[in-house]
Amino acid sequence: MVTRFAPSPTGRLHVGHGWSALMAMDMARAAGGAFRLRIEDIDCTRSRPEHVAGIVEDLRWLGVAWDGEVIFQSERLDRYEAALRRLREMRLLYPCFCSRADILASAGAPHEPEGTIYPGTCRALSDAERARRMAAGDPHAWRIDMAGAVSRTGSLHWTALPFPPGAGPGAAIAADPLAAGDVVLARKDAPASYHLSCTLDDAAMGVTHVLRGHDLFAATHVHRLLQALLDLPAPVYLHHPLLLGADGRRLAKRSGSIALADLRAQGADPARLAADLRAGRFPVGISLGEA
Ligand code: GLU
Repeated sequence: MVTRFAPSPTGRLHVGHGWSALMAMDMARAAGGAFRLRIEDIDCTRSRPEHVAGIVEDLRWLGVAWDGEVIFQSERLDRYEAALRRLREMRLLYPCFCSRADILASAGAPHEPEGTIYPGTCRALSDAERARRMAAGDPHAWRIDMAGAVSRTGSLHWTALPFPPGAGPGAAIAADPLAAGDVVLARKDAPASYHLSCTLDDAAMGVTHVLRGHDLFAATHVHRLLQALLDLPAPVYLHHPLLLGADGRRLAKRSGSIALADLRAQGADPARLAADLRAGRFPVGISLGEA
């Protein structure tokens, strides 16, 4: 078994991150497997190098110990580029010149909790128009033609383990990547999107069990599709409920959530905190959300 924790360095970690990392580590250790750390630092608009050191420090303080080197996505851009080339050769990618405002304004774009489903505007461009805009150097992202991709892979399944770890056997879930629409695989401002880099890296790191928050449940349908297209093995997935703050909203790096660094500064005992988190005893005001 190989599990991993894959934070984005967009802020300091909160107790929910610590809880998630401990669970992933414990799951691997209980099975005699390995636990790895990957820093998802390709979002150059939000990632900050100074947060990387903070994340490593906070995890070590809490007693989270990983096997092998820390993997940095920013050092793996050539792999993402190679996968994009492969998908382009399959004629499954198209350049998208839309701005965020264009997408929001386009009629019939339903609003999903995860964001907006892309209405497919640039999928319909003629080859000539596409070539003209590319030649003009218009900024563009690359999107996957999801219907084309699905017709290539046929129906797919992935395995979901119940929460908490060890609670029972996995269940097969029918993958529904079409629900996500034509997601972005390479952004205007980043050489790869989360979906692509995460899927490729989980495979490259030999991850067999992905434990992550329930907010990424929908992403798993897309990841399963990418695995099938790129001949990658499919790990099993365990999506844990998110921790909620006193206001009933999920903890976030940005606001008022209990950062591990704050608890440390207040003199918290990390061994005690880790034991509490493992037992599902969360700091005052924090509760377990619904799965
Ligand atoms: N980097 C993502 C985040 O911090 C998590 C990715 C994953 O676990 O798949 O939300």
